[in-house]
Amino acid sequence: MEITPPRNTRFIFVTGGVVSSLGKGVTAASIGTLLQAHGYKVRLRKLDPYLNVDAGTLSPFEHGEVYVTDDGAETDLDLGHYERFTGVTATRNDNITSGRIYQNIITKERQGDVFNGATVQVVPHVINEIKLFITGNLDEEDFIICEIGGTVGDIESLPFLEAIRQVGNDIRRARCLFVHVTLLPYITAADELKTKPSQHSVKEILSLGIQPDMLVCRTEHDIPARQKRKLALFCNMPENRLISAKDLDTIYASPEALSKEGLDREILDYFALGSNQDSYNRVMGKWQKIVTAIREPGGVVNIACVGKYIELSDAYKSLIAALEHGGIANGVKVNIIWVDSESIENLSADKLRNKFIDMHGILVPGGFGDRGSEGKIATAKFAREQNIPYFGICFGMQMAVIEFARHKAGIKNAHSMEFMFDLPNPQDYVPIITHMTQWQKGEAVETRKAGSDWGGTMRLGAYACMLKKESLVGGIYGHNEISERHRHRYEVDIAYREPLEQAGMVFSGLSPDGKLPEIIELPSHSWFVGVQFHPELQSRPSRPHPLFASFVKAALKQSRIV
Ligand code: GLN
Repeated sequence: MEITPPRNTRFIFVTGGVVSSLGKGVTAASIGTLLQAHGYKVRLRKLDPYLNVDAGTLSPFEHGEVYVTDDGAETDLDLGHYERFTGVTATRNDNITSGRIYQNIITKERQGDVFNGATVQVVPHVINEIKLFITGNLDEEDFIICEIGGTVGDIESLPFLEAIRQVGNDIRRARCLFVHVTLLPYITAADELKTKPSQHSVKEILSLGIQPDMLVCRTEHDIPARQKRKLALFCNMPENRLISAKDLDTIYASPEALSKEGLDREILDYFALGSNQDSYNRVMGKWQKIVTAIREPGGVVNIACVGKYIELSDAYKSLIAALEHGGIANGVKVNIIWVDSESIENLSADKLRNKFIDMHGILVPGGFGDRGSEGKIATAKFAREQNIPYFGICFGMQMAVIEFARHKAGIKNAHSMEFMFDLPNPQDYVPIITHMTQWQKGEAVETRKAGSDWGGTMRLGAYACMLKKESLVGGIYGHNEISERHRHRYEVDIAYREPLEQAGMVFSGLSPDGKLPEIIELPSHSWFVGVQFHPELQSRPSRPHPLFASFVKAALKQSRIV
C-alpha cells in the first residue's frame, strides 16, 4: 500500500542505537523547536514498540510518568517533552504502540469483511497500519518528526523500522530524513571516544534497508576531527551530518547546542528549504533567556515532594519540569527534596518537623493506592498547621481534604473509597472521596475512544473548571474559566462541601455543572491549594503554569521567614 500524505509535508524519523536513554525524545523535540524557529509548522509523533495498548496501564516504576493529552489519551512521557519544547498540543494521534496497532488489526479481522478473506500478516497488514498512523491525521504541517521508541536491534521495533523504510520509498527519499541517535562512549584508559558501537548500530539499521542521513552522537567530550572522519567514512555520510550532542546542564539548552553543531542548517539543506531568520533570532532569543534563568538563579527554594515513586524521577517528569518553570518565573532555582510518604507514616510531631525543617513549600503529587496515603495525610496536616505553602495535586488534593475533614470538620473517620474497603471494618469509615459514578455512566468512557476496561473508568483529558472570583486561584489565573487535564477515578464528594466550607475550606473551582470539586483552598493559610487536575501537564518553560509560579513565589516568601 502506497501512502500519499500532503505534498508539502516532510518526515523526519528519529531512531536510537547502542543503548537506551540517549535522550532521543529531547533530540526530536529540539529538532521540532529549531524547525519551528525557522518558520515551519511541525508536529511530533512517537511510535512505541511495547504491546500495551497505551501507556495507561504501565507502572510509573517501570516506564515513568503517564502523560495525558487534552483529548484524553494516556501516552508516553516523551510527548511531554514535545509539548514543552514546541508548544504544539499533542493528540491521541501522536502516540501509538504495537499493542494498539495489533488491536486495530484484530478488530478489523474480526469484522470479517475488511480483509476480504486474506491471510492477515505482519507484512503488509501491520506495516500498513503503522504507515497510516505516521502519515494520517495531518493538518498542513511542514514537518512530521517521528520518534521510534526502543533501540535498533530490538525484535519489537522491527515492524516500525520496516514501516519507516517503506514511507521513505513511497514518498521519495527527498521528503524523508533519517536521524540516528547514538552514543560515543569515552574510555578513560585509552583517553579516547570510541566509534565502534555507533558503526555497528549504523550497520544494523542499514541491514534493514535504512541509511541514516544524519547521526546525532551523544558524548561527554568533543569529537576529535580524526574520529569524525572515521565515523563518517564507516557510516557512509558526509562529515557535516555528524552532529555531536554533548551532555548539557539543562535540556532546554539542547536546541541551541544542536543548532551550533549545524543540525538545523543540515536539515534545511537536505530538504533545500530556506529560513526565516527574524523568526529564528526571536525564538532562539527566548530560549536563551530560559537557559540563562536556569543557569543564573537569584536564589534557591526548597520544595519537599512527598510521593511513592521517589526513586525514579521519570515518574514525575512533568511535575519536576513544572516546578523548574515555576522557578524560572520567580528567578530562583527550585531544589526538590524527595520524601517517601511511607517513611513518615508513624512519625512523631518532632520527627516530622525535623523531616521538613528547611522546606519552604510542600507538594503532594498524584498517586494511586493505599501505600503511603496516611503519610500524605500527615504531611497535609503538618503543612496546614505550620502555615507552610502546600500544593496538593490530584491524590494530594484528596489527601488534604481527608485530613481537613478528620481534624477540622469533625468527620473523624473520613476516608477514600479507593482503599477503605481493604481495611478490616470498612463500614466504620466515611467515604468523602468517592467513586466517580457519573463519569462511569458515560462521559468518561466516551472520552476514551478505544480504551481498556481498566482505563475506561477514568476521567481523562481536558475539562473546563469554573473559578470563584474572590479566591486565591481566581487571582492566580486571572480569569474565571480554565481548562486543565485530568487522570483520576475518584473525586471529593460534593455532598461534603457544606461541612468542609463551614470549617474554613473553600471550594474555589468546580466543574461547570457545579457537581465536581476541582479546587480547594484555605483562605486562612499562607498558600494552601489542592487541585483535582494535573496542572503540571500544561506548564512550559516559556509559559510557566500560573499555579506553579504562584506556589514557588509563596515558597520564596516562606524562605525569607524561616
Ligand atoms: N488515585 C486517585 C484517583 O484515582 C488520584 C489519581 C491521581 O492522583 N492521578 O482519583
